[in-house]
Amino acid sequence: MSIKIPRGTQDILPNDISIWQYIEEQARLVFKQFNYQEIRTPIFESTELFQRGVGDSTDIVQKEMYTFEDRGGRSLTLRPEGTASIVRSFVENKMFGLPNQPVKLYYIGPMFRYERPQSGRSRQFTQIGVEAIGSSDPAIDAEVIALAMTFYRNLGLKKLTLVLNSLGDPESRQTYRQALIDHFKPSIDEFCPDCQKRLEQNPLRILDCKVDREHPAMKTAPSILDFLNSESKAYFDQVKKMLDDMGIDYVVDPNLVRGLDYYNHTTFEIMGEGFGAITTLLGGGRYNGLVSELGGPEVPGVGFAFGAERLLLALQAENVKLPVNETLDCFLVAIGDKAKERTVPILFNLRKAGLSADKDYMDRKVKGQFKQADRLNARFVATLGETELEQNVINVKNMATGEEAQIAINELEAYLQKHLKR
Ligand code: AMP
Repeated sequence: MSIKIPRGTQDILPNDISIWQYIEEQARLVFKQFNYQEIRTPIFESTELFQRGVGDSTDIVQKEMYTFEDRGGRSLTLRPEGTASIVRSFVENKMFGLPNQPVKLYYIGPMFRYERPQSGRSRQFTQIGVEAIGSSDPAIDAEVIALAMTFYRNLGLKKLTLVLNSLGDPESRQTYRQALIDHFKPSIDEFCPDCQKRLEQNPLRILDCKVDREHPAMKTAPSILDFLNSESKAYFDQVKKMLDDMGIDYVVDPNLVRGLDYYNHTTFEIMGEGFGAITTLLGGGRYNGLVSELGGPEVPGVGFAFGAERLLLALQAENVKLPVNETLDCFLVAIGDKAKERTVPILFNLRKAGLSADKDYMDRKVKGQFKQADRLNARFVATLGETELEQNVINVKNMATGEEAQIAINELEAYLQKHLKR
């Protein structure tokens, strides 16, 4: 019996890879424009990092982690998200002492969650995200949001909604937390078992529940916005004003609490089209307590992450065509054994000169070689037959214009360089 790919994972095959590479390139471009630098951290970490960093009461830690013991008896976990690892690295490498503050980082890589696989939800998925650690200026909240919107817009997505909320500072959050407990307690028996647990552990997350969404107590729940103290309210107002000033539209949704425990002040999501419904493409927010929670000094941070797979679904749903046509500069066609042999060094020279080029290796007839050139989107086809070989010339055809020329073999590279530029 053949071995199959694990449930909830996918192969990204060569036919689809150019779109992935394009998205990553575009992301790197925007990160550069906003002055964020890449960081790469391990794919597995100590389990404790996520228990503390993501939060014990979250779905991720309670039921979604890929946790295993290694041969040395350590408990390790495949990273379910990026922020905890990056904050660990920030603390471990004492980045809080660097002269360049805030430290503005981005990452691209696979994340792992044991979830029920469905469209837009898999067990291994790719997150692209940023973290700006070290500043509590509301302008940096506005900056990461602007970065995210710029990236999506650059790719050509239009049907986007930026949803914004504030969870306030710890004091505001604490009074709100109590108000929620008081509000839900009388009817908590009518809620799902998860919500019953959440009531004491993390009542904000009841607002997030998909099961009890229609319960009447949900509709009458107090709003966080009525519980923000004056500093938190001023902070939120500034973030909104800066978004207004940049011309970035948003809607405020007081129920946007986000799944993770470490958020305070600004939280946001970007909703878009996907698998036949509106879905969350991106989520982020401010996490002022996380660095100290993970053993560092009191340093604030803000960031977001989006799933590349969901982005692809949104691009499909909006019918966006990305400019990802792979082409080959030149394909060499050989007629006869001697010519075939001669194409080996010719091809090597083209490649050494920096051109992308290929030839036939399947003993195809001339027609088959031309077909292969077509499949590879060759911009030029250079054909070498016995007669040309004797005269040291080669026939070059521009596949777009049909224009043909016979040139000296040793001029092929220069000819291609010149005509490819046009
Ligand atoms: P989160 O870290 O849960 O806030 O998720 C941020 C983004 O990552 C989501 O908006 C999705 O785009 C993506 N994402 C999260 N979980 C999954 C998953 N299981 N499969 C695919 N994408 C995911």
